[in-house]
Amino acid sequence: MVSAARRIELVPAEETERRARRDCSKEPELWALLDAVTDPEIPVLSLWDLGVLQNIERVGHRILVTLTPTYSGCPALVTMQEDIRARFAEAGLTDVDIVQVLSPAWSSQWLSQAAREKLTAYGIAPPGDERCPHCGSSNTHRVAEFGSTACKAMWRCDDCLEPFDQFKAI
Ligand SMILES: [Zn+2]
Repeated sequence: MVSAARRIELVPAEETERRARRDCSKEPELWALLDAVTDPEIPVLSLWDLGVLQNIERVGHRILVTLTPTYSGCPALVTMQEDIRARFAEAGLTDVDIVQVLSPAWSSQWLSQAAREKLTAYGIAPPGDERCPHCGSSNTHRVAEFGSTACKAMWRCDDCLEPFDQFKAI
């Protein structure tokens, strides 16, 4: 089992840079607005938690939002963009551009420890974690490569017998 301390050492450079972009941003209120926008398929994770929200900046009088989808062609991306526009519109901000950056590709390593804990609490095993999110047992097996969505696999616990989704490691 990988300890929390060990994971912190393994934060990829892209994720460190993403966190720095937010920490150094002159527009913290814009970032805070989008903390209310969650993954359409995993409502406990914000786009920030997920690592999809890469940057928010003002370019002239417009707001430029940069996203990296969890995988190219992810069907949730259209909904994410609509939700971002709706959230800004509620705050009276309508001059919004959203661009996708596909490189470097999103990695499940960009999920924070907090995001992994939220996933487990929601009943989804985080990437690389084969323990049952319901009872914590390691006595589990994978049932199918695809769960409720393409980015999740279906597993079953051999102790509590409950099925569960695992967010795939990418
Ligand atoms: Zn279980």
